Amino acid sequence: MRIPDSCLFHTHFPPDLPLEMEADHLRRPHPSTYHQNMPQIPAGQTLLIDADDTLWENNVYFERAIAAFIGFLNHHEYSPAEVRATLNACERDTILAHGYGLNSFTRSLLDCYERLGASPVTAEHENKIKSFAHAIAEQEIELMPGVAETLAALATRHRLILMTKGNHAEQADKFSRSGLAPHFAAIEIVAEKDAQTYAEVMERHGLPSRKGWMIGNSPKSDINPALAAGLNAVFLFHKDTWVLEHATLNSAPEGQQLIELDGFSRLVELF
Ligand SMILES: [Mg+2]
Repeated sequence: MRIPDSCLFHTHFPPDLPLEMEADHLRRPHPSTYHQNMPQIPAGQTLLIDADDTLWENNVYFERAIAAFIGFLNHHEYSPAEVRATLNACERDTILAHGYGLNSFTRSLLDCYERLGASPVTAEHENKIKSFAHAIAEQEIELMPGVAETLAALATRHRLILMTKGNHAEQADKFSRSGLAPHFAAIEIVAEKDAQTYAEVMERHGLPSRKGWMIGNSPKSDINPALAAGLNAVFLFHKDTWVLEHATLNSAPEGQQLIELDGFSRLVELF
């Protein structure tokens, strides 16, 4: 059987990549990755599936809003890269205090404006900045290629659970508008995807260690903590994954699997 280049079966990643290598590492598999035949996973699995940038586009809308914000600032002292770095720092702080979601994003833009400026934001500028975030809320749901057909096929053989983090109302609304709800047995909207959260979800759904799978695009939120909690994982690369979700992929612990696929529709070959 020919082994497709895009089916990568990871058992090892080099530890502690230098920082400047991390972005490159996210763009393509590391040469130390080796290939094996695509494993065939039997029916009856529980598949936890991420939503944003796994089932539908999300981060690209935030990137557009940020580009509009940086253009609007047109800062004379700070380069676009410096503005972006400040915004990233604001977002980290806001998320810690207020969680994910559009309100937090709006707050981060306003914080960034004030950190980089000498004066508080005017009402006129505040409205302009809020409009960048509002544009995100008005986006139609744009499914990733093959998602609807793939979920329909997977749902005939496996139990599917949506596993997303963020603002509860915003995530539930996107899920409802996606039309994908009939394929899922349950939905989990959590504040943060850490190992403890995965352990709680596994407990809630009667999922023993090493028996379930987490599928998603974020090394930081979908793969590393799921592996730490005892799940197997499928990493689906997305070129527009949010910078705050970047991390080096951990290797799978003994007895667990980590598989990388280059598109959502390829999940039917595995499951
Ligand atoms: Mg995601």
